[in-house]
Amino acid sequence: MLQQCGVDSILVKHQSDLTGIDGLIIPGGESTAIRKLLVREDMLENLKELVNDGLPILGTCAGLILLVQSESLAGLDAKVVRNGFGRQKNSFEEPLELKGIDHDFNGIFIRAPYISEVGPEVEVLAKTDDGRIVAVREKNVLATAFHPELTDDSSVHELFVKSIVG
Ligand code: GLN
Repeated sequence: MLQQCGVDSILVKHQSDLTGIDGLIIPGGESTAIRKLLVREDMLENLKELVNDGLPILGTCAGLILLVQSESLAGLDAKVVRNGFGRQKNSFEEPLELKGIDHDFNGIFIRAPYISEVGPEVEVLAKTDDGRIVAVREKNVLATAFHPELTDDSSVHELFVKSIVG
């Protein structure tokens, strides 16, 4: 996706990888497992600092969960419901109206969370048909409950890259 946006990327696996990056994507997967790895690599405090210092961050699915204040990285003033749409077999796709994107974006939800409450500084970018919040932005943090990287549509990543390069 980043290549499609014309952006160089590296994989961030260790603390030293955080040096010199202009933005960070925390991907989906399993938030408990990612959190454990962040603790093992002693990266949690560094990341919190970077979030606080204004590093542009995109979190998708498990990445969103980790970014919520009460979870690990304290970037988003929101409440999140893990596995909020149900189990693996309840995974689904839904076209979404997403603020900042001029066409429907195909939301791919895999054991996805949703956001049940947002603080005053949080901008809601998208909701599902049944009204659940699934994309938000707060200052330097952009987060989606779905997986934009599993589509061919790089609009969400472009939105993110624009927040870095203007
Ligand atoms: N259900 C996972 C969690 O709680 C997130 C799933 C995903 O990232 N696709 O971390």
